Amino acid sequence: MNKTEYIVDAFGVSQRSIELVCEAEKAVTDKFRELEETAEINQLKVMRAFSDNRVSERHFMPTTGYGYDDDGRDTLDKIYAQVFGAEDALVRHNWVNGSHTLSTMLYAVLRPGDTLLAVTGKPYDTLEEVIGIAGEDGNGSLKDFGIAYKQIDLIDGEVDFDGVEKALKSKKIRAVMIQRSKGYGWRPTYSAEKIGEIVKFVKGISPDTLCIVDNCYGEFADTKEPTDFGADLIAGSLIKNPGGGLAPTGGYIAGKKNLIELCSYRMTCVGIGRECGATLDFNRQAYQGLFMAPHTVLQALKAATLCASVFSMLGYETDPLPDGGRHDIIQSVKFGDKDKMIAFIQGIQKGAPVDSFVVPEPWDMPGYQDQVIMAAGAFVQGASIELSADAPLREPYIAYMQGGLTYESAKLGITVAADNVLKLNN
Ligand SMILES: *Cc1c(COP(=O)(O)O)cnc(C)c1O
Repeated sequence: MNKTEYIVDAFGVSQRSIELVCEAEKAVTDKFRELEETAEINQLKVMRAFSDNRVSERHFMPTTGYGYDDDGRDTLDKIYAQVFGAEDALVRHNWVNGSHTLSTMLYAVLRPGDTLLAVTGKPYDTLEEVIGIAGEDGNGSLKDFGIAYKQIDLIDGEVDFDGVEKALKSKKIRAVMIQRSKGYGWRPTYSAEKIGEIVKFVKGISPDTLCIVDNCYGEFADTKEPTDFGADLIAGSLIKNPGGGLAPTGGYIAGKKNLIELCSYRMTCVGIGRECGATLDFNRQAYQGLFMAPHTVLQALKAATLCASVFSMLGYETDPLPDGGRHDIIQSVKFGDKDKMIAFIQGIQKGAPVDSFVVPEPWDMPGYQDQVIMAAGAFVQGASIELSADAPLREPYIAYMQGGLTYESAKLGITVAADNVLKLNN
């Protein structure tokens, strides 16, 4: 059996869908070369950092108890700092997710009476509770500690520089918060370079204001990170890009040395900071994950590009466009039709190595106003560097797809998704 016959036989996909995906793949050959170039540069950065820091087997040994002198842990911190063009970094399995890591960063640098200014619109959903704009009073949010919050909304997806300038001039702002990824919104993702422009603008008006970045989903999508362009702190999740699909949990923060020290005090406790923290058996996976990350992110970026190409050919609006700039791993497709969107999500599930036999259905999710349908099936629970897709059931029916540890497996999901959608047209 050749490949086409195999897909038809094993997955019930029509010949026509296979040809469509083949054509869509050819249309993005140049884009693939560009993404491969980015991955190669990032791989070289990682290789150099491993070599400069003389990584060897002893760095992978588990530690217990206080974890004093955990060389594997301390060296990984240095490697992250070097790769991200930062003075210092913290990489820990103790952070339960990206939100927790971002929360640590915020509490580390903000003090009672300070103001936090979000300049890329409303931050990621989970941070609303941390800031204190969603939750009730008395739960320990930043607001409870007397930290004020202001937000400058985007205008047509771009930072409102006039609004930011006014805010910076009208009040002393301790920290400006920038979100790199579009997350689950219909707005552009900002390149590291673009974030550098925002940082420069802010510092030009208020040199003492810190610029801190939610870097989730953006790592290794560009050849530079926001810290290369002067961001004071960046933070992200290890079950997204920088864990390379191998890190089983954790987060990282990178940036200025004095601020990383403050983060370490918030991470454990004041005075102890980074000196304690056994890594158990985490180091080997964290090192190997970072080693894999440029390549794994490439797989996800190629999958996202193929998805954009296939669904553009079918006449749907996609963000980014197939040949558009890619600064994170998220691909959105606007279906404008509930059933087609559901058919898409159910198809993507077929590209998951775990639970691929399951057919996802829309469901009421805590914290969401509309029903949500999700495709996921990962080795690491909830890891969105692994192939997943989700969509709230509301107009204009936009689905978000991200991840894919291997291009080949993600391509299968996209092929079945396209086939599902095409079958609805008949
Ligand atoms: C994933 C993500 C986060 C953190 O989410 P967790 O599920 O807590 O890891 C924060 N901001 C953005 C933009 C994200 O994509």
